[in-house]
Amino acid sequence: MEHESKAVLESLGISTTGAGLAGSEEEAVKLFKSLGSAAVLKVLSPQVVHKSDAGGVVLNLGDEAAVRKAYREIVAAFRDKELAGVSVQKMAKPGLEVIVGVAQDATFGPMLMFGLGGVFVEALKDVSFRSIPVSESDAQSMIEEIKGYALLKGYRGSSADVAMLKQLLLKISDFVVKNPNVSEMDLNPVFLYPKGYTVVDARIILGEPRPVPPASGKLDLHDLFYPNSVAVIGASGTPGKLGWNVFSNLVSHKFLGKLYPINPKADEIQGIKAYPCISAVPEPVDVAIILVSAGVTPDVVEECCKCGVRYIVVESAGFAELGSEGKKIEVDMKAIADKYGVRLLGPNCSGIINTHCSMVQSIGLVDSLCKGNIGLVSQAGVCAAGMLWGLRHIMDFGIIATIGNKLDINETDMLETVSKDENINVICMYLESVKGGRRFIDVAKQVTLEKPVVVLKSGRTEAGKKAVASHTASLAGNDQIFSAAFRQSGIIRARDYEHMFNLTRAISKQPFPDREGVFIITYAGSLGVIAADAITDNGMRLSELEPPLKERLKKLLPDYVCGMNPVDYTFSQDADIVKRTIEIGVDSEDVGSFIVVLQAEILDSYVETLKSINYKGKPIIACVAGKEFALPDVIKMEKAGIPVFSTPEEVADALAIMYRHHERVKKAKAK
Ligand code: ADP
Ligand code: MG
Repeated sequence: MEHESKAVLESLGISTTGAGLAGSEEEAVKLFKSLGSAAVLKVLSPQVVHKSDAGGVVLNLGDEAAVRKAYREIVAAFRDKELAGVSVQKMAKPGLEVIVGVAQDATFGPMLMFGLGGVFVEALKDVSFRSIPVSESDAQSMIEEIKGYALLKGYRGSSADVAMLKQLLLKISDFVVKNPNVSEMDLNPVFLYPKGYTVVDARIILGEPRPVPPASGKLDLHDLFYPNSVAVIGASGTPGKLGWNVFSNLVSHKFLGKLYPINPKADEIQGIKAYPCISAVPEPVDVAIILVSAGVTPDVVEECCKCGVRYIVVESAGFAELGSEGKKIEVDMKAIADKYGVRLLGPNCSGIINTHCSMVQSIGLVDSLCKGNIGLVSQAGVCAAGMLWGLRHIMDFGIIATIGNKLDINETDMLETVSKDENINVICMYLESVKGGRRFIDVAKQVTLEKPVVVLKSGRTEAGKKAVASHTASLAGNDQIFSAAFRQSGIIRARDYEHMFNLTRAISKQPFPDREGVFIITYAGSLGVIAADAITDNGMRLSELEPPLKERLKKLLPDYVCGMNPVDYTFSQDADIVKRTIEIGVDSEDVGSFIVVLQAEILDSYVETLKSINYKGKPIIACVAGKEFALPDVIKMEKAGIPVFSTPEEVADALAIMYRHHERVKKAKAK
């Protein structure tokens, strides 16, 4: 109840309007006199959640008679409820109303919420979330993130003490960390003042103590990605079978380690000696890929564990994804792997591709791959293989790790491992759920300081289906929580499938812009203007050349060209003039990045020239309208390291996201 909750808050050094408990009219009067100011009386009952709804809150009581009257009214209004008494408290002077709350999320545990209170929280749901514990910069960003932040900063004179508000958020976070039985909280409202704040109403809901998440870090996963030997249990010599696909992928990509096909009916498969069972293999096996049917998989897992296999990749399907029967098999399998301390990937996955050791474990046949710097972690196996067929022409993957049902190894383990790989510079993840919970945030927070992480999380429309006791919990929608967790971790959240690959492609090939100014070079005025609008819409701006550089550019421009940014060469644009213009931009302090709009029909003529420029760390993205009809040349340009997008909006969006990421990392590292 309010008076108990406020007492807890006061003990944490949080200022409230207090709540003296009056059991009689006389006590109420006595408490009122001790306040020395106008009072508020409120009903106190474990059965009343919304006190003001039924007339349980009477404000601004200035004299004894008013207090007596209010007391009698409240008691009368709630006579059929179990009454703990009536609270007598100070009438707070008006301030900016905000809400601070805590709710539980099934994935990330306790979440802190902040937002504008009163009608704003009801009507606009203008709130922000972060997973607890929150850091100082988390608290700052959750304050700045709400749309109503402008009101806090000061609007027609009123303003709020953001520093004290931040302290309040940190205190609540700390309180929840220290008290695992706190399940939900509502401080609604808190009044913010130019100096300080006061909590006007409070509610703390207790629940079962939260389980402590299991510690990670059993067996390190490095050798799962760089094994010396791989056995394929269920390898087949019959084309068309999955066991044939997986084994021929390993053979045709010339896996650098040893291969052991396991099949009781074959002496050799694709020219490599086969063994009837894993225990018949005379040498140690690092990784065993299992492709037998779900029912017999636990026995095979046990056999692998017994003969010293270190990592097991279960590519078979037919487990938890099919229902309770399959779920049971999974539970058995996990118990076996845990007993032997063996790490297990899958089931229902498509293994790992690591081009840096020429290892392709995919279920689908995979064509030749370059050794790239992108690490893709995908919950879905087929998605990873399907997109690879086309994308390998314009994106260079180093690692593709599929995680399937995440029985043991989950997305967080993968993120941690892939991020440590020296061959990988950017990580891209497709996720449907997060199993690692808070550890995911902690790991990602570290990783994103060194390597950018782009995530596409699907299932955005899934409704939160949970029993709700507090206001805060009713506002904690599933997708909003994911967005908050990603923001807290410094993850770049992709809007859709194409966005994920566009961003990853740009980041894998280009450096980050380190200033806002964008220099646009175009052959089509319209596309230049659209690009200029788009960069402004994305919070960037057109760069402005210094006067001497303007002079240099003027000498280049034909007489009919007047604009200096965008520079519109119309159809006189060729590779040489683009090169010389870019070199001017490279020399400018105000240029952070380049957008070049190129003609699809002569795209080929730009490739070598653009490749030869020294950009001195400034990124370039090409915009080619109709690029899908000039694919061979697009591929050449991409291979030259210059990403090609089809619309100016996509380019501007990517550059802005890259710039903001860079700024965030710089700020976080400076701390
Ligand atoms: P409820 O249980 O309905 O949320 P509250 O205690 O939040 O009850 O009171 C309802 C509203 O009354 C608050 O949103 C606030 O505007 C006002 N109010 C409540 N207590 C005070 C107080 N001590 N000083 C000033 N205004 C108050
Ligand atoms: Mg309230």
